[in-house]
Amino acid sequence: MAGILFIISAPSGSGKSTLVSELRKQVSGVDFAISWTTRPPRGSEEEGREYHFTTREEFERMIAAGLFLEHAEVFGNLYGTARSSLDDARAAGHDLILDIDVQGAAEVRAKLPESVSIFVLPPNPKVLRTRLRNRSRAEGVINEAELYRRLGEASREIENYREYGYILVNDILDRTVAQLEAIVLAERFYRNGEVIAYRSRRVLEVAAACLQSNSQERLKPVLEAFGILGDSRQRELNFEENSDDD
Ligand code: ADP
Ligand code: 5GP
Repeated sequence: MAGILFIISAPSGSGKSTLVSELRKQVSGVDFAISWTTRPPRGSEEEGREYHFTTREEFERMIAAGLFLEHAEVFGNLYGTARSSLDDARAAGHDLILDIDVQGAAEVRAKLPESVSIFVLPPNPKVLRTRLRNRSRAEGVINEAELYRRLGEASREIENYREYGYILVNDILDRTVAQLEAIVLAERFYRNGEVIAYRSRRVLEVAAACLQSNSQERLKPVLEAFGILGDSRQRELNFEENSDDD
C-alpha cells in the first residue's frame, strides 16, 4: 500500500472523531495522527490517545524545531500534526487520517496536493447544538460559553467546504460510516489498484456520490440552514434556543 493521506475537517461536534473511530474498527491499515494541542484534556481524554497535551512554550519550541507538518490556532489553543505521524504511517505502508481544522487542511493540501480531503457537515445547526451539548453532558462539563463559541464558528468553517474533494452529511451514523469507508476503499482502488470484489463495486458508486461535485442537491438544505445560502440573518435564527430537540 502506497499510503494515502486523508484529511478530515468539520465543525466541532459534527461527529468526525466518532466517524474516524468507527472507520478504523472496520478498515485495517488506516493510522490516525494523534495531534499535539495546548488545550487541556476534556472528559475522559487521555494523554497519547486523543491528543498529546502540552504547554504553549513546548508547542512553540516544537514549531521552531520544524517538527510540525502543519499547525494552527483554533478556539484560542494551538493544535498541530507532527511530521513523524506521516513518516511512521509511510514506513508502515499505512494510510493516515488527519482530523484537522480548515486552516491546517489548507496548509497540508498546499504541501501534499495528492491528499484526499473530506468535509463533514452536521445536518443543521440545531442538531449540531444538541450533539455538542450531549457530548458536554457525557463528559460532565457543561460550558455554555464554549459551546456557543464553537457553534458561532461552525458557519465560518462550513464556508470552506468547496476546498474539499468529498462531502459527508453526518445524519444517520451507520450510513455516514459506510460512506467514509467507501471513500477510503475507492481511493485505494483508484490510486493503488487495490482489488475490490465485483460484489463490492457498489462502494465506488457510494464514494462517487460523495464527491463534492455530485453533492450539490444534498448540500443545499444544509447550507441554507447554516445561513450560507439564502438569507444571512437565518444564521442567528437557526441557533435560537426555543426548540424542543435537546
Ligand atoms: P467531533 O469530533 O466532530 O467534534 P464527536 O465525534 O465528538 O464530534 O461527536 C459529537 C457528539 O455527537 C458525540 O456525543 C457523538 O456521540 C455524537 N454523534 C456523532 N455522530 C452522530 C450521529 N450521526 N448521530 C447522532 N449523534 C452523533
Ligand atoms: P477539539 O478541541 O474539539 O478536539 O478540536 C477543535 C478543532 O481543532 C477541530 O476542528 C479539530 O479538527 C482541530 N484540530 C485537531 N487537531 C488538529 C491539528 O493537529 N491541526 C489543526 N490545524 N487542527 C486540529
